[in-house]
Amino acid sequence: MLRLALAAVAAMLAGAALAQPATNAPAPPPPLIDWDKIQIKTTDLGHNTYMLEGQGGNITVAVGTDAILMVDGQFAPLSDKIKAAIRAISPLPVKYLINTHFHGDHTGGNANFAKDGAIVVAHDNIRIRLAGGSVSQQTGQVVPQIPPEGLPKQTYFGGSFALEVGGRKAQLTYVANAHTDGDTWVYFADANVLCTGDTVNNLKRYQSIDYRNGGDVRGMIRAGETYLKVINDDTKVVVGHGPLASKKDVQEFHDMLVTSRDRIKPLFDAGRTEAEVLALDPLKDLNEKWAANNPQLAAAHTRNVYHSFERF
Ligand SMILES: [Zn+2]
Repeated sequence: MLRLALAAVAAMLAGAALAQPATNAPAPPPPLIDWDKIQIKTTDLGHNTYMLEGQGGNITVAVGTDAILMVDGQFAPLSDKIKAAIRAISPLPVKYLINTHFHGDHTGGNANFAKDGAIVVAHDNIRIRLAGGSVSQQTGQVVPQIPPEGLPKQTYFGGSFALEVGGRKAQLTYVANAHTDGDTWVYFADANVLCTGDTVNNLKRYQSIDYRNGGDVRGMIRAGETYLKVINDDTKVVVGHGPLASKKDVQEFHDMLVTSRDRIKPLFDAGRTEAEVLALDPLKDLNEKWAANNPQLAAAHTRNVYHSFERF
């Protein structure tokens, strides 16, 4: 059955692939998602660690001796399929579901997994945004609060801490003001697997920076610099959207962001308006690769970087 996704949820779809409307443009209609047609693809990353792809943010599953750790849960209508894919890996229960950030394509499954006993873990800003509702940067529409069952039960404010199940440890670290103001990246040292959420994509496209909700290109760059120190040539990087990535992909994505910052910050500092910066098109030479020459996607990225600098 073809179901119309809620506008609020659809708005949270892979940001990199969607163009952002001009400030005064009407919101685009929500895309149709035929949930029944979506298959969950499982990739074995070694050391009892797996990447699951369906629709929405990539999922990581780490199996311990007594329970499972999971990173992100995609959309609620896919929860049964995701649970079936996990059961095909292991009969053990999911003890922790970590949210990398609050967007619905990563957190939509929270309540369905919590119902089975999973503890949702996230940065505290995620709980605040999910509990209070938010405004979608891409459509300007209000995203309603979610039911209490889907809210993170265990939150943290900053720094880094470990979550453990039998024989497995996930290191969770907060990166301030990057894709949003509540991003967590997760590292499984035993499997050499890094989960970046939407602070990196491997679509070879510009990534949305949710400046309305605390996102900032400078935090995205800081995140990338941290990853490049932590990972090596053998690290398997589960990005928010796109295929499994390597250190080389992370470096390339990071370098694109650095160029974006270095060209747009001086224009912002010189008092240029958004319209003036868009007209100057300072990333013109990058747009063929990173926006596939899609002018809307190119403009959305320039706008996202420009507005990052309004934070302070
Ligand atoms: Zn996102």
